[in-house]
Amino acid sequence: RTLRMKRMDTPQSKGLLFLVSAPSGAGKSSLVRALLAADPAIRLSISYTTRGIRPGEVNGRDYNFISIEEFEAKKAQGEFLEWAFVHGNYYGTSKTWIEAELAAGRDVMLEIDWQGAFQVKKIFPEVVSTFILPPSIDVLKQRLVGRGTDAPEVIAKRLSGAGAEIIHAPQFDYVIINR
Ligand code: 5GP
Repeated sequence: RTLRMKRMDTPQSKGLLFLVSAPSGAGKSSLVRALLAADPAIRLSISYTTRGIRPGEVNGRDYNFISIEEFEAKKAQGEFLEWAFVHGNYYGTSKTWIEAELAAGRDVMLEIDWQGAFQVKKIFPEVVSTFILPPSIDVLKQRLVGRGTDAPEVIAKRLSGAGAEIIHAPQFDYVIINR
């Protein structure tokens, strides 16, 4: 009912904007994948990042992988709806793509960190935001190690940053504990 009200409040019956944030390892990507499989009408925004590509990732599907120079150029040209420096890399959301999808009446999902979430909320106050929590920090660590895609020092950095991310959970519309 909340979603329907938000849609009616929005002029020109545009698409709905959703965003989901989580500390790395909370299971955000798996949940989003399941959601998109259940509702193929929702379009996932593919972010730009300067992070190196991980095994199994595909350029243009998981991210648009670009250099720091390319990122700086896009930032200067105002191509990002929001951008943030997360765990040592830059990430940004394409503004033109989002605006075109919403204007065409399509629902859009953003998978971004809390810094980006706050920027998006300022621009699109009607955004439906969700924060995903792991059941515990121990489980988070097990998942990051079990994923086997990151080096130990990268995992350590992500774990030590988890508390600083989790502290923002109450500012989201919904919080899901991913058991
Ligand atoms: P990962 O490198 O593990 O894929 O993502 C690291 C973090 O960056 C995650 O919290 C992810 O949600 C966030 N992230 C991915 N894309 C964007 C983006 O476009 N903007 C912002 N602000 N964060 C992003």
